[in-house]
Amino acid sequence: MTLRLFNTLTRQVEDFTPIHPGKVSLYTCGPTVWNYAHIGNFRTFLFEDLLRRWLRYGLGYELYHVMNLTDVDDRIINESGKAGKTIRDFVDPYVQAFFEDRDWLRIEPAEAYPRATEFVQPMIGLVERLLANGTAYKGEDGSVYFSIARFPAYGRLSRLDRRELKTGASERVSADDYAKEDARDWVLWKAVRPEDEKVGAAWDAPFGRGRPGWHLECSAMALDLIGKAGYGDELDIHAGGVDLIFPHHEDEIAQSCAFTGKSDFARVWLHGEFLNVRGTKMSKRFGNITTPRDLRQDGVDPAAIRYLFYQTGYGQKLDLTDDSLAAASNGIRRLGEFYGRLRQYAQEVKELAGPLADAAEAFKVRFTEAMNDNLNSPGALAALFDLIKLGNREMDARKGGAGRLLETLGWSDRILGILPVAGQVLVVRTAGAEISAEAGEALAETPPSGTDAQEKWATRWALARQEAKRARNYKEADRIRDLLKSAGWEIRDKADGPEVRRL
Ligand code: AMP
Ligand code: ZN
Repeated sequence: MTLRLFNTLTRQVEDFTPIHPGKVSLYTCGPTVWNYAHIGNFRTFLFEDLLRRWLRYGLGYELYHVMNLTDVDDRIINESGKAGKTIRDFVDPYVQAFFEDRDWLRIEPAEAYPRATEFVQPMIGLVERLLANGTAYKGEDGSVYFSIARFPAYGRLSRLDRRELKTGASERVSADDYAKEDARDWVLWKAVRPEDEKVGAAWDAPFGRGRPGWHLECSAMALDLIGKAGYGDELDIHAGGVDLIFPHHEDEIAQSCAFTGKSDFARVWLHGEFLNVRGTKMSKRFGNITTPRDLRQDGVDPAAIRYLFYQTGYGQKLDLTDDSLAAASNGIRRLGEFYGRLRQYAQEVKELAGPLADAAEAFKVRFTEAMNDNLNSPGALAALFDLIKLGNREMDARKGGAGRLLETLGWSDRILGILPVAGQVLVVRTAGAEISAEAGEALAETPPSGTDAQEKWATRWALARQEAKRARNYKEADRIRDLLKSAGWEIRDKADGPEVRRL
């Protein structure tokens, strides 16, 4: 059975066939790093993570996934100016924070995270070619614009009626973000202003000093990187949130196709729906944002967020509420309990065949069908929770071994990533080097608040215990074991070092 995806370009569910057999190129528009990304942004990134993991672990494709970081735009220049910093210094902490939040949410890293400011040369090359073939022109303000009138295919993705397109020099826009209702010539390259120079947002180009426009960035980075990676000049899949269909993706198509001469920039366009709060899009502008940092502070398990989001298909709007988050936390707890019980059971009952193995097989088929059906994650999760019911019944009756089922659950969680933090083994052995660097500090006897801080605390105590054992101070080693235990952590000694896990 093949993967079928809803393609925004054709408004149809289509069979997915990659351009190069066995391998897929994927481009997803990344964050504008002018601030912390909110959990609405991450709903889109989590949908893309599901796509990514399904392509790799479900279907076995080799994947080349690019996610850009927009590190120069109007907002960044304004904010950097106010802060008296260069754009580089201004965005760096947000880039760092984005990667931390990504890891916390268990989003698999893409193969490349190009920063716009590091790809200015390919952007200049793209603009030069568009100027040469007449799809771009220099305005009297010194900026370079794309000419919609010279690109007849404009509007295909967003299905704009060309008769309604308002084009022409008098109406073009130079802002990165502009009103949805008007299609206008947009800026490819903005002529330099003193405030750009001040924050280090200006580059020399044959057509004048300036800086790239937002839409141009994605076209140039995508084409440059997939070309170098051997994927040619057309993407298999391009994804983002629905708000990017127009004008951003429409403009990306126009620039890229005017550059390559091809009729498509990406074969399949996928768009994730919004995360809402009481019916309104989560957005900094509406003052209704929650960041992954907020949720982490509140002790929310990242698995619960993933589970909550995947309970709704990526093409449906989703409202975030405290209740839905609490219900999701319960859901993953049940999953964690089942998994724990299964592991215990598998140690007791060793045979392979039996009803649990059959259930595993049937589950894998159902899960696969759902995921291949335009990433129907609610269907895949329904299969998983039916499996829990059935599995618990069979374990009650002590029928057959659980080895196969454990394996299959491991596989499905490589795709979903929703097993709760509790019960997960934190391996201390390799983390030692990094953590012992801070070993000079006295360790608190009581755990700090926050999941991350607690994990760090527990691993550091585990290392301290290892030291105590090495010094043959067994009394101290036992004391540390008890201390961790009373804080809800179990420590196990393995041949190559200790393992800690939450009880
Ligand atoms: P930005 O940093 O504004 O460029 O947005 C990064 C990504 O987040 C884009 O793919 C947007 O479509 C997406 N996005 C922004 N707000 C939301 C939201 N409330 N729900 C889902 N995705 C969003
Ligand atoms: Zn983009």
